[in-house]
Amino acid sequence: MSGAAPLVFRLEGVTKDYGPIRALDGIDMTVRPGEKICLIGPSGSGKSTLLRCLNYLEEPTGGRIWLNGEPVGHTIDSVGRRRAPSEASINRLRMSVGMVFQSFNLWGHMTALQNIMEAPLRVRRLPRAHARDLALGLLRRIGLEDKQHAYPSELSGGQQQRVAIARALAMEPQVMLFDEPTSSLDPELVSEVLDVMRTLAQEGMTMLIVTHEMGFAEEVADRVIFMDRGRIVETAEPHRFFRRPESPRAAQFLARVVGRGRARSGSEQHDLRATTGGEETETGRLATSKTERET
Ligand code: ADP
Repeated sequence: MSGAAPLVFRLEGVTKDYGPIRALDGIDMTVRPGEKICLIGPSGSGKSTLLRCLNYLEEPTGGRIWLNGEPVGHTIDSVGRRRAPSEASINRLRMSVGMVFQSFNLWGHMTALQNIMEAPLRVRRLPRAHARDLALGLLRRIGLEDKQHAYPSELSGGQQQRVAIARALAMEPQVMLFDEPTSSLDPELVSEVLDVMRTLAQEGMTMLIVTHEMGFAEEVADRVIFMDRGRIVETAEPHRFFRRPESPRAAQFLARVVGRGRARSGSEQHDLRATTGGEETETGRLATSKTERET
């Protein structure tokens, strides 16, 4: 990626406080077009809050965020007054930034097709026939064309999450945010959702993914960002990160979450143990289910 490519997101010193809790503590980062970034870290480290600040579901307490060079959220006028964002600018932001949540959030009274058509009709104001064609095309892409008339209650969790991804894509967003999209799924349904995300990644979508699926992160991410206590502790190329994390905190986290689940070569095991101060790791399959997450 050229260093001169325009940035999708730029964050400077972003903080977020919930009363006495500092959920984000000075986040600086950039996201380039087409980049896939996996956000990894222990529960409560601020990953979800960071995503929610990016699409203005949460207003940061401090610092600044830009999307395509435009400020996200409030602006400061020429005399230093804080100005709330206009509804139009929030709508523009939400059209550019799609979000997929852990809990699907589909509308229960609408079919899969209607769920996907809703935003193109209401927000993008596409003609109904156009919105329908778009939605059917997306259902085909996620392999659920035959479920177009099914209601969410008639779909498995994996199918619901695929529809939720299609619904976000129906806005033709520039970037997609995924907040633990497979965490509430039964293990056997995880792969169908990861397959859809993998295809999206291969198609060049810019993606920020909070995930505990370490194998997927290593395969898909251009960069892994490891967070702890509201801070970015380490940013790394994934293969290096999963083999030789630099920070003791990341090494300790990986030893607990991945180390016990990953078959490593002797030297790789040695590397990880060296950085964790001799903590034992076990071998086995990749950590791919919520039961293997660090809690
Ligand atoms: P993660 O996604 O890494 O698990 P979160 O971003 O959900 O972490 O949470 C970071 C911290 O902020 C945690 O201490 C959490 O309890 C707190 N937090 C998150 N959302 C809220 C909220 N709406 N109100 C109060 N505290 C919150």
